[in-house]
Amino acid sequence: MFVMQVASECALVAQAGGLGDVVFGLSRELELRGNAVEIILPKYDCLRYDRIFGLTVAHQDLWVPWYDNAIHCTVFFGFVEGRKCFFIEPHSPERFFERGHVYGSVDDIDRFAFFSKAALEFMLKSGKRPDIIHCHDWQTALVPILLYEMYQHVGMHEQRVCYTIHNFSHQGIADEHILWATGLRNPARFYHHERLHDDFDPAKLNLMKGGIVYSNFVTTVSPTHAREVTYSDLGRGLGHTLHVHRDKFGGVLNGVDYEVWNPEVDPWIARAYGPDSVEDKYVNKGALRDRFFLRHDYKPIIAYVGRLDGQKGVHLIHHAIFYALDRGAQFVLLGSSPDPTISAHFWHLKHHLNDHPDVHLELQFNAELAHLVYAGSDLFVMPSMFEPCGLAQLIALKYGTVPIVRASGGLADTIIDRDHGWAYDEHRNGYVFHNADNPGLESAMDRAIGLWHGHPQDFRHLMLNGMRTDRSWARPGQDYLNIYEHIRHK
Ligand code: ADP
Repeated sequence: MFVMQVASECALVAQAGGLGDVVFGLSRELELRGNAVEIILPKYDCLRYDRIFGLTVAHQDLWVPWYDNAIHCTVFFGFVEGRKCFFIEPHSPERFFERGHVYGSVDDIDRFAFFSKAALEFMLKSGKRPDIIHCHDWQTALVPILLYEMYQHVGMHEQRVCYTIHNFSHQGIADEHILWATGLRNPARFYHHERLHDDFDPAKLNLMKGGIVYSNFVTTVSPTHAREVTYSDLGRGLGHTLHVHRDKFGGVLNGVDYEVWNPEVDPWIARAYGPDSVEDKYVNKGALRDRFFLRHDYKPIIAYVGRLDGQKGVHLIHHAIFYALDRGAQFVLLGSSPDPTISAHFWHLKHHLNDHPDVHLELQFNAELAHLVYAGSDLFVMPSMFEPCGLAQLIALKYGTVPIVRASGGLADTIIDRDHGWAYDEHRNGYVFHNADNPGLESAMDRAIGLWHGHPQDFRHLMLNGMRTDRSWARPGQDYLNIYEHIRHK
């Protein structure tokens, strides 16, 4: 099968969040399974050019219709760790992708609408006819719309679209001008409640809504999140549309890149270890304590690694620190926040706890250090308010660090409570609580710390269950292939 990913991010070269990991990880898995995969990306000025191998011009003169004119583009080709990537560079006064960032310009709608149009134009003109076009989030939601409304009539009638939504908070709310820019010259058709018309602002178009309506299949990043966005306010107003289209909507969990996150081969930790040498994990515990000036004592270390953001349950993270200390555990936090209020709060906390021998707050983003924190801790807390999929708990599992999570989205799908789980013993891998409040969190922390102290053999058993769980891209890769096959024959 020939799959074309059209995306605004790809890990290693242009990444702002999980979207980039999915584009890269899924593409590699699909290729390993014998499929042809290519990726189309904007040629941002801030691409990591040092990660692109053999960058050459693939298409010198691509003219992309835009309003009543056309914008001249050059398309480049290069390998990103073996993945085949095309990069579209427009030459126009707007300098769409020369902004020093991936997102964050006032004209982001125009930038990515142009990119979506250019990606289709590139496929059309270069004769690329993938079986499946896989696009992601609002940035490329116009791809299925333009394909169905325009490009299928000029030679692309066999292509099918899978559309993955990673984040419902940003839906691409656009004005009418975007129709004129992209050549969809019939506003009445698109300002229709069953197509792109925004359900809340009558003057606006909602690109993500259009992506859902026009795609052959729509996914989000976990089965539980798929239910949450359809039947709760987590869909940010798209619940009705998702309900209408429920027969072509589902959740597929993201995988973890075990080439990066694997304690058996991790260059960033003090001592490699795996399920058969789990005692070596404690060398890392010692190294983590040395690194963070924690005392060496017979105590479990509880960790948090992640953004400090309302979504992540910052008030519960705060409480977890003090509750851990109360219960005789140690706590390490590696996190940062762009929000000045949250950041100030944690800096204040850091100063307050500075001389405490059982706690360390590291307020920065440090990808290398994260490896040692996962490897050196016993427990990992993730009390998210909502979590579409979540990667950190999956990494923690692989490192034998037992997760304590709130039952939300992908956390509910991947962490099975040791005491109250519905699954067989070997699938139980952590602690889960439901209520997003202090008693809820405490109930799970109590049980986890209690097991660590009182039943070390059982605790080790729980660690090993997690380490043996396969959360690679193998399973999600197959899930996506099944979806592609399903829509290909429609
Ligand atoms: P989200 O995508 O919502 O931020 P995920 O759990 O899906 O949350 O993924 C977060 C990823 O980012 C994990 O790999 C985590 O280790 C990493 N990460 C987040 N904050 C930091 C930080 N301050 N330092 C190092 N790595 C971090």
